[in-house]
Amino acid sequence: MIALKERLLEMNEYFEEKDTDMKTEDGTMMILKKGRYGEYLESENFATDEIRIPLPASIKKMVKEGQLEEKDGVIIIKYLLDEIKVVEDKLIAKAGVCEKCGSKFEIKASRRGKFLACSNYPTCKNTRKILKDKETGELSVAPPAKKKEPVKKATTKKAVAKKAPAKKPAAKKKTTTKKVKEEK
Ligand SMILES: [Zn+2]
Repeated sequence: MIALKERLLEMNEYFEEKDTDMKTEDGTMMILKKGRYGEYLESENFATDEIRIPLPASIKKMVKEGQLEEKDGVIIIKYLLDEIKVVEDKLIAKAGVCEKCGSKFEIKASRRGKFLACSNYPTCKNTRKILKDKETGELSVAPPAKKKEPVKKATTKKAVAKKAPAKKPAAKKKTTTKKVKEEK
């Protein structure tokens, strides 16, 4: 078992760097690489421009499963990243501005998946969930979380107060039955 695990780790570490059709803003080619935390793109001039972009989980999965198209030794990946960018931009537009501070939202990724976070972070920690329609797969933005209204607390207190005296008559009944039994 251990030997197999070690072999799998070795296989994961063996990863050729591959050319892609993705380019940095100044036209430098980006290379598909694999690091400790998975695949990412890195500028060919990383030593000087320090451009590195993480890949979304969906594309990482495609890399792992060998689903990315390769043409003349170049991995075709740009259109996938463009598609994702379009979807994300639409979600940001749908969310509008942060209801707490009026700043724009931006897409963030966590282990649980993507969500919208206020761009004014860490001053504003507002976030919105991204919802996925189970049938159509369409993504939408969850409405702002509702605040707890103080009025509700008052009604619960009243309800508790009303319930309490209702128990008293029941207690009286018990004592009367006891008395009857004692008399017998
Ligand atoms: Zn905000």
